[in-house]
Amino acid sequence: MPETLCTKGENPIHNALRQVSLLQNRWTLSGFSISGLSTYFQIPELDICVDMGECPLSALSINHILLTHSHGDHSRCLMRHNSLRKMMQNPTPAIYYIPDPVYDLAHNMIKAETLFEGVSEERFESPELVRVKPYEYFTLQERKDLDVLAFPVKHSIPAFGYTIFAKKKKLKKEYLNCGQEQIVALKKNGTEITDNIQEPLISFMGDCLGESLWEERHIWNSPVVVCECTFLDTDEEGMARKKGHTHIDHLARILSKVGSCNCEKLVLTHFSMKYSKKHIFEVISEKIPSEFREKTVVFL
Ligand SMILES: [Zn+2]
Ligand SMILES: [Zn+2]
Repeated sequence: MPETLCTKGENPIHNALRQVSLLQNRWTLSGFSISGLSTYFQIPELDICVDMGECPLSALSINHILLTHSHGDHSRCLMRHNSLRKMMQNPTPAIYYIPDPVYDLAHNMIKAETLFEGVSEERFESPELVRVKPYEYFTLQERKDLDVLAFPVKHSIPAFGYTIFAKKKKLKKEYLNCGQEQIVALKKNGTEITDNIQEPLISFMGDCLGESLWEERHIWNSPVVVCECTFLDTDEEGMARKKGHTHIDHLARILSKVGSCNCEKLVLTHFSMKYSKKHIFEVISEKIPSEFREKTVVFL
């Protein structure tokens, strides 16, 4: 049986501000994700939010917001984040990373929303939006120790997934057998004795068809993979495809292909709001292949 994260009533009334929290060794993933209603994730220790379908006060101290796509349940509170920060007089502007295909639209939408609130055109100030291109690595502006890879996923509209990496230095192979004194001497000479490496920490798939989990299989190098699992029932695979979402049967087939990998936790999110918690747990217990069952966490 997959582990549960918090207890709720059997037929909960979904409340996007009631957050789920998943503790990792070094950090916490918290947020909420139900299809069509709201999706947002926060990792305060990494200074990252992914999506902003709702903006709890706990998100306001976070400086980097990565948007997966522009569906309202993921993007609706982007500017609420910005305006609440201003209201709280947070002196640092947050940075909003926006997928290239919707970058210009995001800019227009933010401007329209500001004018709608009665701000004059001359007084409109755009928040800091960064255009993110597919397969681009970028370093987070306020966290130089973290890199992000953006990659396209298949959904009903343009959508990106993200992998977060810790930047580390690793001793070059040729110096592995050197003693302490030799290393110190090499450093003094100004010899470059380390390589820069990127250690994956977590991958977010956003909304996508199951096949993106295989096409972008680099995600399985991450110790934590957050993926959607919107549809569960046997007659819903066609609907999942039509709507650009992952069906659990497709996920199960891909997990069987992935086999052993570095993934230690698979976090399933974005269930359709029509399922009861009991139904979700039963189907997952039955369908997730045995080698992933213990690793699977239901984000409810
Ligand atoms: Zn969604
Ligand atoms: Zn979507």
